[in-house]
Amino acid sequence: MKLKTIRDIAVKNKRVLVRADFNVPLVNGKVSDDTRIRQALPTIKFLLEQNAKIILLSHLGRPHGRVVAELRLDPVAERLTKLLKIKVQKLDDCVGPEVQKKVSELKNGEILLLENTRFHSQETENEKNFANELASYGDIFIQDAFGVVHRAHASTVGVALRLPSAVGLLVEKEIAALTQLFEQPKKPLVLVIGGAKIDTKIGVLRKFIEKADTILLGGGLANTFLAAEGFEVGASLHESSKIELARELLLEAKAANCELVLPEDAVCADVDAELNATTPALDLRVDALPFNLKILDIGARTQSRYSEIIKRAGTVVWNGPVGLFECFPFAGGTKAIAEACASAEATTLLGGGDTLEALMCLDIPIQKFTHISTGGGAMLKFLEGKELPALAAVEKHTA
Ligand code: ADP
Ligand code: MG
Repeated sequence: MKLKTIRDIAVKNKRVLVRADFNVPLVNGKVSDDTRIRQALPTIKFLLEQNAKIILLSHLGRPHGRVVAELRLDPVAERLTKLLKIKVQKLDDCVGPEVQKKVSELKNGEILLLENTRFHSQETENEKNFANELASYGDIFIQDAFGVVHRAHASTVGVALRLPSAVGLLVEKEIAALTQLFEQPKKPLVLVIGGAKIDTKIGVLRKFIEKADTILLGGGLANTFLAAEGFEVGASLHESSKIELARELLLEAKAANCELVLPEDAVCADVDAELNATTPALDLRVDALPFNLKILDIGARTQSRYSEIIKRAGTVVWNGPVGLFECFPFAGGTKAIAEACASAEATTLLGGGDTLEALMCLDIPIQKFTHISTGGGAMLKFLEGKELPALAAVEKHTA
């Protein structure tokens, strides 16, 4: 991918429209985790140094084309103002006469944050007039929201096709980390994959069957593979319609000489048990699971086997919690994987909304990993080798 970055183009005194990813968690109207806001700072600071006029665009949550008061970006503006130590002015819409007026009055070195783009359904539809209006606010477009580069929306693809474009420092960093991994991973390359469903991960599994030495399976995903191997998974989260697919993948792995490892034991609860911090849990071998139990985590033997493999790896890519980490008795497997990755000598690369959420819950500092991707879906698509529409648009309409 040959993408121009913000450093390759002239932004001095220009109106620069930046797509950032301020899709942050909010609790009682306050930003509860500002990691994504902090990740956007290098690009904003760079533009401030260049004396540009900065117009920021972002979505937050899923308002489905309507104004949802709780999803306004005011708490983001507040946090940005605090972190940058300069006033970030926030508007109550992202299009319309008021926005046009404020943009035209913007001075060099000032920052304007427009309202949640997803308050308009035209955003996700990439509607022409809406994209035209957004594009009219800038002389240049900078894509710095890695979390949405797999989406063809007005604020990602639409504006990029209408303005001279480049990527920001965060997207540049993400691409560099993922490309390095993709092109010359330190061996052995190990993929740890968990989470709820096979569907969203199938592309990455296939790709890594070709590339990786070992794949460690956990989560609901592993249950479908256990069913494919003939084990009783009872009421455990699994996809019966994907069992055949799991069989195919097991064969593909064998042919490609990739070791696909399934859990040998599992932490389970009674089918009818209410799941909370005190749910009784049983650690059983997978060949001895009664049908009235459900698998909610990888067991102790599996945890130590996976940890050993991670310890000997050259590169570890991890996506998807290996158990129901939100519920204390079933968080042990995810914790063991996180700790093994954190203390491994390997290059470690993590991504996924729930995977990062798990690190937060389990109090594992993100500095312990080589690269934490801010994009879950986008990271998976990139690792699959798929085209990312928002980056393709920047490349097509490069500044
Ligand atoms: P990510 O967002 O990191 O890509 P996913 O969205 O694929 O991860 O999956 C995360 C969800 O999978 C979590 O809510 C977790 O509780 C759930 N999960 C993992 N293992 C199990 C399991 N054995 N049974 C039920 N849910 C599980
Ligand atoms: Mg998720």
